[in-house]
Amino acid sequence: MKILNGTALAKKIKSVLAIEIEYLVNKHKRAPKLSIILVGEDPASTSYVKSKKKSCNEIGILCDLNILPFSTSQQELLALIQSLNKDPEVDGILVQLPLPKHIDQQVVLQTINYKKDVDGLHPMNVGLMNVSDEAIIPCTPKGILSLLRAEDISITGKHCVIIGRSNLVGKPMAQLMLRENASVTVCHSKTRDLPYLTRQGEILIIAIGQPNLVNADMLKEGAVVIDVGINSVDGKLVGDIYNSIDVTNIEKKAAAISPVPGGVGPMTIASLLENVVEIYKRRCVG
Ligand code: NAD
Repeated sequence: MKILNGTALAKKIKSVLAIEIEYLVNKHKRAPKLSIILVGEDPASTSYVKSKKKSCNEIGILCDLNILPFSTSQQELLALIQSLNKDPEVDGILVQLPLPKHIDQQVVLQTINYKKDVDGLHPMNVGLMNVSDEAIIPCTPKGILSLLRAEDISITGKHCVIIGRSNLVGKPMAQLMLRENASVTVCHSKTRDLPYLTRQGEILIIAIGQPNLVNADMLKEGAVVIDVGINSVDGKLVGDIYNSIDVTNIEKKAAAISPVPGGVGPMTIASLLENVVEIYKRRCVG
């Protein structure tokens, strides 16, 4: 069984991007810039945004972190986004999710200029993904696709089963796999007979945020398993499947698995950096 090493691939992507950025900065006389907005002090979100900023800075992307108090009103947040939309120096805008309950997430995402939407969550990018190559692709699905490609895992004609239908992971993942010529099944909390469906997955992507739901018995022999989940169990970071109770049997049955940590997580950040550079290049050529 092969471990799909996202940490190593992300490192490689970052070093290639760093060289490209150095060249681009010389050419265009300015560095790419990402502006991140965090509302509140949720510890997980705070740690994610710090790690995103650190990764940007490591490869020559400027990154400003706007940390707003939990009490920030929707109007105040929208005003900040509008000013970043207009700022010629800002290439990408990222609003860290989730937002406090008093703020309407969809209104916020729709306020970001879709051409600066590094997370690819604006409805315009969601729509473009269905019909063209112009879309900015959400970072986690994009990172998963890069990982599969780098490992020479063929997708065409395969049956890809995805558990989870969030706007962030499951839905864009399904669209991407369709684009790659897979046959796609999307499962979710209301799916009947989940094991029947997961046993057909030649590529199984799990993004539920719940460990131990899937065991070895639910896997197809030789499946490629992508574990997106991030869960804390007894203070330890585990995936939805990786490091779960049945992981030994799962590892015997699967052909490949992405670990947690060190699989999809670092690839998500690498894809974010790729998206910032892509947007910067589009903006530089007008
Ligand atoms: P979400 O809560 O928005 O969606 C969870 C999905 O799981 C839903 O579509 C739901 O229908 C499905 N689900 C829940 N219980 C189920 C069940 N019993 N059977 C079948 N389906 C079920 O979560 P999300 O934002 O998609 O994230 C999922 C997980 O991935 C979380 O653990 C999150 O932390 C992690 N995540 C990791 C990264 C990364 O970079 N590694 C990025 C995004 C999300």
